[in-house]
Amino acid sequence: MESRTFHTRSEEETIALGRYLARELRGVVLLIGDLGAGKTTLAKGVVEGAGIATADEVSSPTFTLIHQYGRKDQYGRKDRAIYHADLYRLDQDREVETLGLDDLFATGELVLLEWAERFPALLPRERTEIRIRALPDESREITVDTIASEDGAQARAPGN
Ligand code: ADP
Ligand code: MG
Repeated sequence: MESRTFHTRSEEETIALGRYLARELRGVVLLIGDLGAGKTTLAKGVVEGAGIATADEVSSPTFTLIHQYGRKDQYGRKDRAIYHADLYRLDQDREVETLGLDDLFATGELVLLEWAERFPALLPRERTEIRIRALPDESREITVDTIASEDGAQARAPGN
């Protein structure tokens, strides 16, 4: 398991970190942290860094549960998508199952998930976990762990 820790001192720095991480993030990514930690803020940067939408166009999917951000190629066909889901309002595995997360995982596109660590049985083992912790001075400690399917194996990048 590879682990790295970053430190951001403002919302803008967290968005910038998301833009940076966009280059490497693939597959299923859990955004883990308390309410207001900065999960959605980081997601804004990731979507922007992938060139799919601007940070301002990314909003919290708290009520809609899943947002899809897509990019079209020169022929108007969709050539890349990012899914961003927030499972905060769900309590049971059964409720989460109706969302069809497996279908999203199967696309091989980047799937950013808030509050999904509460449903471990529904998640692929191969995933990235990003933990965000608010420090007393309003800065954030952000740790990125990549979990491969086998010990010592690198996580496969879907689509590669
Ligand atoms: P979450 O999705 O984890 O509930 P949000 O990203 O919606 O959290 O909100 C984070 C809030 O914290 C925003 O209001 C943001 O302006 C504020 N904030 C303050 N400092 C930071 C920082 N270093 N990184 C991210 N957000 C920060
Ligand atoms: Mg959020």
